[in-house]
Amino acid sequence: MYSPSIRNADSSPVGPVKETLAIGMDIGGTNCDIGFVNQHGACLRHISVSTQSHACFEGFRDATLAAIREHLQQLAGYRCVGMGIAAPGANSRNGRVTDPSNLGWPDICLTDAFGRFLPFPIYVTNDANAAALGEKKYGFAKDLNNFVLLTLGTGLGAGIFVDGKLLLGRSGFGGELGHTRISDETRLCGCGQMGCLETYVSATGLRRTVMELIAKYGKSSGALSHLDFHQLTAERVGQAAADGDILALEAFEITGSVLGKKMADWATVLDPEAFILFGGLTRAGEFLLDPIQRSFQQALSNFLRDPIPVVLSAVPHGEAAVLGACHISEFLHQTQEV
Ligand SMILES: [Zn+2]
Repeated sequence: MYSPSIRNADSSPVGPVKETLAIGMDIGGTNCDIGFVNQHGACLRHISVSTQSHACFEGFRDATLAAIREHLQQLAGYRCVGMGIAAPGANSRNGRVTDPSNLGWPDICLTDAFGRFLPFPIYVTNDANAAALGEKKYGFAKDLNNFVLLTLGTGLGAGIFVDGKLLLGRSGFGGELGHTRISDETRLCGCGQMGCLETYVSATGLRRTVMELIAKYGKSSGALSHLDFHQLTAERVGQAAADGDILALEAFEITGSVLGKKMADWATVLDPEAFILFGGLTRAGEFLLDPIQRSFQQALSNFLRDPIPVVLSAVPHGEAAVLGACHISEFLHQTQEV
């Protein structure tokens, strides 16, 4: 994405050489984080725009554009080479967010919506792919060509690198591992199917597991049993586990065990160099990681017995998607060459 200088066809410089920057935007349900990142990966500015305080998408877009223009003016010594946008459900193939219902927006083409007002190219991808790009550029996966990054938050997302390229698939929905299934008839998923992995392995899935265990063991079964579903958070379950609560520990055991088995399946398909875990649920630490490791190793085929590390992300949670979004154009260029 970055070019060190601007030159005429005869290679003579056009004018003073400016350093370049790229803008990375991470649209979440509450806030939109925007980073202005130089070619060395340093974030020069980091701002946040509310995604909830606007009546419609156009209101959000205009507030975002005003903030971007203001900061670009203050960074006049830099030349902006492009902007990458990460959003849940966003599709790199067509620039659209296909189901932005949690944001209260209609189906939107983000590349058009912002591209009409900004004099540089706009690129779009989903939040898990952006986190994987951030990990590839700045984190544990810097020297890896084959890895799976799992985002364990409200849902379960994934960014998959295969032979050095981000997997997008035919229509841009490749790598939706949260909607691979673990059973046919248990929990209903937001995608309309039954038994998707993210109905177990996500903050929401963990809460559902706790509620099932409370129903199984009774109301006096521990520190969590007096809470209703809305009071129950993944943080509370993590704290209860840290205090030795048997029910909370069992909930993490179930969650980790289910994920470890699925990771062994994906290892058979992808032969990765590492699995990288990212997102709020990983704050549970060993309570989640230990059952994942046990179940993963037990379910792994014999021919894959060479150690496949399962590690936590090395990029700060608040920065991974913003940093990764700055590099979307690099991987798009790669995938178009295939
Ligand atoms: Zn699903």
